[in-house]
Amino acid sequence: MNFQMQNSIPYLTSPLFEKYGIPHAFTTRRGGCSEGAFDSLNVSTRRKDSDGCTDIYENTVENFRRVLSLVGGTTEKSVCAHQVHGNTVLELSDEHGGMGILRGAKINIDGDGLFAAPTCGIEAICVKSADCTPILFADRRLGSVCAVHSGWRGTVLDIAGKAVETMVKNGSRREDILCAVGPCIGVCCYEVSEDVYLEVEKTLTSKNAKKLLPELFINKRDTENGRKYDFNIGKMCAELAILAGLPRENTDFLDICTCCSTDSDGRIFFSHRGQHGHSGTFASVIAPFRV
Ligand SMILES: [Zn+2]
Repeated sequence: MNFQMQNSIPYLTSPLFEKYGIPHAFTTRRGGCSEGAFDSLNVSTRRKDSDGCTDIYENTVENFRRVLSLVGGTTEKSVCAHQVHGNTVLELSDEHGGMGILRGAKINIDGDGLFAAPTCGIEAICVKSADCTPILFADRRLGSVCAVHSGWRGTVLDIAGKAVETMVKNGSRREDILCAVGPCIGVCCYEVSEDVYLEVEKTLTSKNAKKLLPELFINKRDTENGRKYDFNIGKMCAELAILAGLPRENTDFLDICTCCSTDSDGRIFFSHRGQHGHSGTFASVIAPFRV
């Protein structure tokens, strides 16, 4: 993990992506203009605080402007995913500009994954999260990129693998695709029930990879509310990219917990669990690039 600062906005990068000069950033909750539960770099217009209020639209647009500036994007020509915990990966063109960011955008389509080629007319793509896993992909030969939001539902639907397939369909060789799994809820804080375990088991069994289960689910215990496990969802996402054919050395799992990472200024990331369902979302952003 590399911590960086640009225009007073702190953000994280993947050392692997840095090595290839790929323009990307995982932001924190800091450096924005929103207040209250959305303090401060919130990019969600739908999430609600404990009074049932959403963030001020103009503030989210300003926050998007700051986030996108980290990779040279503008609000008009960039896209943020309309996330619904599915496995749709949208292939973008210039008519999608502003989608998920500006109310005036021409098109708004649901999709937890976004794909952009350097020639598509889109400057940057972005996913939002607050414990769910953000995953960024980049083709170091073609300059095409993919951004994915993967909660446990998207994870068992293998949206990571779907992203790799979308890139391959658009000319990528698997050995050129790099993957960075950003800050998400860590195994330290992510207690899940048996139903999540069984869904993951089903997904891994279909990929002949059931042997990964003991690494992904630890501290099995029986409680009065049923069997519980601690789930390493970020590692699962990285493993799904490898199962989709990426060389292991092409994947970088940052392994930073959104729920319990704090410093002297308090919470570093927005966290759905840590803030009891009333939080904003931070952004993970990447730009298609010329090689
Ligand atoms: Zn934690």
